[in-house]
Amino acid sequence: MSDNPDRTDWPPAELDFGKPTIARAYDALLGGKDNFEVDRQLADYACRHIPGLQESAIENRKVLVRGVRYLAREAGMDQFLDLGSGLPTVQNTHEVAQGENPDAKVVYVDIDPMVLVHGRALLANNPNTKVVTGDVAQPERILRHPDITGFLDFGRPVVIMLVGMLHYLSPEDCESVVSAYRNVMAPGSHLFMTSLVDTGLPAQQELARITRESLDKCWARTPEEIEHHFGDFELIEPGVTYTALWRPDEPVDPDDLTPGEQLGMAGIARKNG
Ligand code: SAM
Repeated sequence: MSDNPDRTDWPPAELDFGKPTIARAYDALLGGKDNFEVDRQLADYACRHIPGLQESAIENRKVLVRGVRYLAREAGMDQFLDLGSGLPTVQNTHEVAQGENPDAKVVYVDIDPMVLVHGRALLANNPNTKVVTGDVAQPERILRHPDITGFLDFGRPVVIMLVGMLHYLSPEDCESVVSAYRNVMAPGSHLFMTSLVDTGLPAQQELARITRESLDKCWARTPEEIEHHFGDFELIEPGVTYTALWRPDEPVDPDDLTPGEQLGMAGIARKNG
């Protein structure tokens, strides 16, 4: 599927209004409007059990914005493949990247068909941005998709983003999936990932469990595991760290993190030579 403005396929046959989805439940957590009662119920339930969950989702969006701004402004990146992009919200990847460089190209990929539907409306007049429906866990299919291969130039540096997405790749598949993306990236490319983390705090594993039970998948990763998935790429300072500590706009005291700020970690790494 692509950003064809034909809307006769609404609602997409894949939409199941009786079961929550990751994209819609996350949208509910962020206070968005593109979700249903089942998604809000799940978000409310999880928030009651996990202190600071909503704050953690907001922190994840904030680091996405800081990371994309860094990549477009300081690292000079102008091609972004945003895998597991989620429903449009405020300050989407293309808005941040194209705010720095109007010619920056962005492709959003998400498994949830609602993302394509909402993306079409948002991107109707934006020739530098596309939305693709696809399964990130099948890199060989994603990397052959004509809306990606015909739009992004993998002979040049590209940013691949797995932001708020790494923890949805199963422990069995995670490294083979991420390495398949790493392998096609030209030198100078950057990998940007955030993940639910496991540093031994009960809330981290509890969040993974609640999410897995309701949405079939979610695995908290140790900081070492997250770092491992960057392969031999060079981590940009400050490395893999709690999202609030990744190049914050205002200084943050690492000894003073809230429970919500201890649910996720972020990192950006560069492919050298
Ligand atoms: N990247 C955005 C962010 O960080 O704000 C959205 C993160 S949201 C928590 C995770 C997104 O990944 C959801 O929109 C979900 O539909 C998508 N997702 C999960 N598994 C996926 C898969 N196998 N392929 C594509 N998208 C997937």
